[in-house]
Amino acid sequence: MSARRGTSDLEKESNYCMRYWGFLVGKLIAAGMLILVAWGALRWGFARPVYFDTRSDLFAHDLGYTLATMALSLFCFGLLYAAIWDQKYRCRTCLRRLRMPVQTGSWPNMFLIGRPRIEYICAYGHGTLRVPEEQISGSGTPDWHAHEDIWKELEALEELKK
Ligand SMILES: [Zn+2]
Repeated sequence: MSARRGTSDLEKESNYCMRYWGFLVGKLIAAGMLILVAWGALRWGFARPVYFDTRSDLFAHDLGYTLATMALSLFCFGLLYAAIWDQKYRCRTCLRRLRMPVQTGSWPNMFLIGRPRIEYICAYGHGTLRVPEEQISGSGTPDWHAHEDIWKELEALEELKK
């Protein structure tokens, strides 16, 4: 029976994983569509009559168009960065934004209480995200710890009291 439950937990975790990455893919698709609309608006805004088309492209020949293209590329990179950054701080189970950042650890007491990091939790108790504070070797990989069912943990505490 425990093996059956283990398989069920694996399926549930797989579903959560699919939902988490599916949400990121959905956000990236939405961002791509927004970028296409902005690109279309840029092309429409700088449309020229066909008989005036002496050069192949306006880019690097027309200051207004080149500046608008630069602004569009900044907008695109900002949009993609925001989508990925937002995904990092979402619960892996329910996809809600993680809340209540708490700074833990300390450099002077590193061996006692660990390195400085910021911990975020899901407001519904699904897990904790630990983000290292130092950026010595690039941005540290965030560390997600899924919590057990909160009611099971409370029942276990009640059993310990008896
Ligand atoms: Zn959650």
